[in-house]
Amino acid sequence: MKTYTVNELLKGEQLLQQVKVNGWIRTFRSNRFIALNDGSTLNNIQCVVDFEDTPEDTLKKLNTGAAVCIEGTLVESQGKGQKYEVQVERIEVLGTSDPETYPIQPKKHSLEFLREKAHLRVRTNTFSAVMRVRSALSFAIHQYFRDNGFYYVHTPVITGSDAEGAGEMFRVSTLDAKNPPLTEDGKVDFKEDFFGKETNLTVSGQLEAEAYAMALGKVYTFGPTFRAENSNTSRHLAEFWMIEPEVAFLDLMGNMDLAEDFIKSVIRYVLDHCREDLEFLEQRLLQEEKGKPQNERSEMSLIEKLHFVLDNNFKRVSYTEAIEILKRSKPNKKKKFQYIIEEWGADLQSEHERYLVEKHFNAPVILFDYPAKIKAFYMRMNEDGNTVRAMDILFPGIGEIVGGSQREERLDVLKERVAALGIPEEELWWYLDLRKFGTAVHSGFGLGFERLVLFVTGMTNIRDVIPFPRTPQNAEF
Ligand code: ATP
Ligand code: MN
Repeated sequence: MKTYTVNELLKGEQLLQQVKVNGWIRTFRSNRFIALNDGSTLNNIQCVVDFEDTPEDTLKKLNTGAAVCIEGTLVESQGKGQKYEVQVERIEVLGTSDPETYPIQPKKHSLEFLREKAHLRVRTNTFSAVMRVRSALSFAIHQYFRDNGFYYVHTPVITGSDAEGAGEMFRVSTLDAKNPPLTEDGKVDFKEDFFGKETNLTVSGQLEAEAYAMALGKVYTFGPTFRAENSNTSRHLAEFWMIEPEVAFLDLMGNMDLAEDFIKSVIRYVLDHCREDLEFLEQRLLQEEKGKPQNERSEMSLIEKLHFVLDNNFKRVSYTEAIEILKRSKPNKKKKFQYIIEEWGADLQSEHERYLVEKHFNAPVILFDYPAKIKAFYMRMNEDGNTVRAMDILFPGIGEIVGGSQREERLDVLKERVAALGIPEEELWWYLDLRKFGTAVHSGFGLGFERLVLFVTGMTNIRDVIPFPRTPQNAEF
């Protein structure tokens, strides 16, 4: 007998045939109806047990959470709520589940409660939907780049350069933490460490990706990145996945076009391939928003919001224009912002980004040409000597989703900036080499994968869109 997934059976193609299906019991009611789920779809298949034919002992084990193997006939369902069901002829309990202690009961659990049960929460509709969408998005990302001539590059997770400058790093070391070897002046002697130098977990694969773009032309990385940010926000993880394309002979405008086309393409993919899950998540969001005051509810449903992104051009606004808008804005004048924007040069906080996106433009926004002093050393200096060709993409409800730039390709200018920031040139020798041998205009960006998943699923906390989140004080699983 052939084994089918629930998803396959629900299509009804095996009508009146003998089928076998494995899964976990979501509910068992009236000693007769099993709602069976196997993760292949959001939906359950109803399996009807004839209790007179089923041993008492087996019936007792048909509890929520138990794993079972069912053989029977696929028939049209008489009851409402489903088109097809399985008339059970044989049922084997593969793994029992104690109803007294199984935490995932068939009722609504809070997301906070489920975070404590990260190993089991994916057995709920919400988390299984999120994780299926996450998987589809990740596939769409690879497909987009493949279709557009990019090579997938695996940049190192352990990095020896501490000049990436994107945030606090996690040290990688095999030295004895209690009793490390010391240098003459009493500092930890990293020459004795595994790699003979200080090493950390990477905060970005960009610098290495640049080296590869300068030979393969169009490359991207998609891997885990680590930041020891003690920020505890709903948008920051200590371990997250980042997508970083890097393209030779591409300028900032081309970079914006790429980012916009890329984001739209992957959103289109999930709209086409994850309909059921998105509709479920849309309902979930609607329920959640009912608990909020009217003015905090979003005007669009989840799927409308995704279409809105597809159907509209991202607004491209220079940093300088954005500052003018913010200075004139109501929350700035009424001192409602926590950080009041007084002058050009201020770093934008997420409250400002969200004002621009959600109140002023009401659309995704690409901010570009930022002041050099608030951006990284590798960004291309503009002719004004004050701003760099940086771009951030800001999304409603999320804030920054992409950070990117045209890279400084001129050796002399790059050296000046490195020196100005007090970074020793030796640390970047290989990166500088890229400007000595066949340098060219090139650009790239980093997109935080979980922030994209947040946007697409309508979830609000980044801890709920990655299987086992790592945040300060939390690495249980
Ligand atoms: P933010 O200002 O939000 O902290 P950033 O300026 O530090 O972001 P970049 O260094 O430009 O971010 O990183 C590129 C992208 O990676 C960001 O646009 C964001 O989508 C994502 N990102 C950055 N830090 C985190 C984090 N701690 N957790 C999850 N995603 C992150
Ligand atoms: Mn940051």
